[in-house]
Amino acid sequence: MTYFDHAATTDTRESVIVAMVEEMRRTGNASSLHKAGRTSRKSVEIARERIARSLDCLPSEVIFTSGGTESDNLAIKGLFWQRIRQHPQRKLVVALSIEHHAVLDPIQWLVEAEGAEVHWISVDAQGLINIDEFRDVVQSRHEEISLVSVMWANNEVGTVQPISRIVEIAHEYGIPVHSDAVQAVGSLRVSFRESALDALTLSGHKIGGPMGIGALLLKREHKPVPVLHGGGQEREIRSGTLATSLIVGLGVALEEAALQQPHHHEHVQTIRDVLISRIESEVPGSVLRGDRHQRLPGNAHFTFDGCEGDALLMLLDAAGIHVSTGSACTAGIPQPSHVLLGMGVAVTEAVGALRFSLGASSTIRDVDALMEVLPEVVLRAQRAGKTLKSQS
Ligand code: PLP
Repeated sequence: MTYFDHAATTDTRESVIVAMVEEMRRTGNASSLHKAGRTSRKSVEIARERIARSLDCLPSEVIFTSGGTESDNLAIKGLFWQRIRQHPQRKLVVALSIEHHAVLDPIQWLVEAEGAEVHWISVDAQGLINIDEFRDVVQSRHEEISLVSVMWANNEVGTVQPISRIVEIAHEYGIPVHSDAVQAVGSLRVSFRESALDALTLSGHKIGGPMGIGALLLKREHKPVPVLHGGGQEREIRSGTLATSLIVGLGVALEEAALQQPHHHEHVQTIRDVLISRIESEVPGSVLRGDRHQRLPGNAHFTFDGCEGDALLMLLDAAGIHVSTGSACTAGIPQPSHVLLGMGVAVTEAVGALRFSLGASSTIRDVDALMEVLPEVVLRAQRAGKTLKSQS
């Protein structure tokens, strides 16, 4: 199979499987005081230290969660509740309009259930934050802002945001900043310390670790109100028995991903650049979306005139090629991506989107295999689109 969907999930590293199986053979709850428990605790703390070294943070800043979605929810709801407990007027959440649903939806929930207000910061045609609008809202409404959440890199079009600049502006007024870095970790150099972020979300299965594990990196000075209540694990911020083998897998994956990051960046970018130039020259009506330079190295995102992304996806699937439209379906009905609409792309163009995302196992042969079928697939999808239009 030819796999271009590494941003959805990527191959589990062999070293991760080996370390996890070894850990799974052990019995012991990391919170138990006896020897078996202490052995599990040691495995957890070794993983925590590996993560801290890889992302340049303190081990005590690592909070294990079940993945990116939970980390985003914990950061957003937890910091919102913490901040309004301190000052009830801080009801405003400021976030980017093109965030992943794991950020959009908890914010929307806060608006509907908890009386929050939200300001969605707009982006330009490349998906880059409108920094003047951000500065204006921070300057004019800083007393009302509970937190800022801006993704490090977009999961659909791959645009990378100027995180340090965003943090600098928010910190002038003491506003905490969270960043969803699920797509950035492993692809870009990520230093929690240098970013000066207050909270950062990461997920295991995007970097060759297991599914169902992630972490929130969180500065010690923050005490978000927990989403889960129970045994008080993880600084009383995230209760639940520590998933020892998943945590071990995450530690191994992150250590390897951080070590390999510069090479990985070059590897996927080289193949990705060939992919972009071949699609642009060989497929009429293709338009590259997202920023050409400020972009994840393994991401290529196109719209194809007169096509439906889902039709393209199915035709490619039948040819053994796995891609994504990049955006979610709602109840099985394909929706134009909120990311593309936020970038000002017309609905008629946004429905023809495909995301190609590359990973460690990608090769130039994958590009050859794709380009053997893509021009014909696009023609067929265009014809199908025209037939449907003439019938309606
Ligand atoms: N945030 C971003 C930017 C993502 O791309 C994803 C997954 O696609 C998530 C959050 C959710 O992460 P998880 O699958 O670990 O819940």
